[in-house]
Amino acid sequence: MKHVYTVDDLRNDELPANTKLAVIGNPISHSASPQMHQAALDALKIEMTYVRIQVEPGNVAEAFQLMQEKGFLGCNVTIPHKLEAMQQCDELTDSTKALGVANTIHFKDGKIYGDSTDGPGLVKALHEELGFNVRGSRILLLGAGGGAGKAIATQLAVDGCSELYLSNRTVEKVEQLSADLAHHEATTCYSINNADIALAIIADDLDLIINATSLGMKPDDRPPYPLDALKQKHKVYDAIYNPSETVLLKVAREAGAATANGLSMLVHQGALSFETWTAQTPDTQLMKAAIL
Ligand code: NAP
Repeated sequence: MKHVYTVDDLRNDELPANTKLAVIGNPISHSASPQMHQAALDALKIEMTYVRIQVEPGNVAEAFQLMQEKGFLGCNVTIPHKLEAMQQCDELTDSTKALGVANTIHFKDGKIYGDSTDGPGLVKALHEELGFNVRGSRILLLGAGGGAGKAIATQLAVDGCSELYLSNRTVEKVEQLSADLAHHEATTCYSINNADIALAIIADDLDLIINATSLGMKPDDRPPYPLDALKQKHKVYDAIYNPSETVLLKVAREAGAATANGLSMLVHQGALSFETWTAQTPDTQLMKAAIL
């Protein structure tokens, strides 16, 4: 079995027997999705194989057509194809329409269905890891203008958080997002820039801080939040899972705050995709162990 397959491999039937699921992206070799999905398939004795397929930009439509011809159930979609994938779909869930991107594709009855499971996956992760309920809460979302950030912000508004502070380096992106979310009446959105002073001022009134920026992936990244403003009463979730403890999480933990990394979001968004394809509930602890 190869670590990464190509669209040529798909076309020429050079995938392992019973390959019915995949993750597509470019690059794709780093993706942990095959480990976690294969573990869940095997545990439920579903005789299917899940692979990585490298797809070049512009080739998503062809990849989907070939997958349908080969009897695939569906696929996950990662950077940079979430928009292109959404554009190939016949049917979209409401959240996918709102976001304009899809990370889960289901081939059924000759149609292509698109869904976005990052936001619901994050909410499940918050509940599981931090015992956190979104409804009525006050949340600061760092990096709200990025791909993951928008998905998370939309879900937090759908789930009725009361105050949502949307922070981003490029503040124009969150001003637009804030306007887009204005019809969620239970949620008041504020857009703020990512200057430490602005973040520190609102810090005291927060229940939860979520990092959805990419700051923290590299050892020399500056923190996405003023570290001396972290308090014991905060809960802190970092969407990053590699490294397993970013500087933000380390300092928050040392301040006595409850913390969790993005592994649980990764697993839960995957589990929701899995349920869409198989109508079965996978063992999320097993999926997590398979990645670790
Ligand atoms: P993205 O679309 O490229 O967004 C990156 C975000 O980080 C943007 O808000 C960007 O701000 C901000 N940013 C980047 N460099 C910055 C800097 N030097 N200073 C301040 N802000 C900076 O990426 P993404 O797909 O949303 O991913 C974001 C993070 O979430 C990554 O760490 C990724 O690993 C993680 N993630 C985790 C999961 C999971 O399942 N756990 C899923 C998806 C993503 P601008 O808008 O101003 O550029």
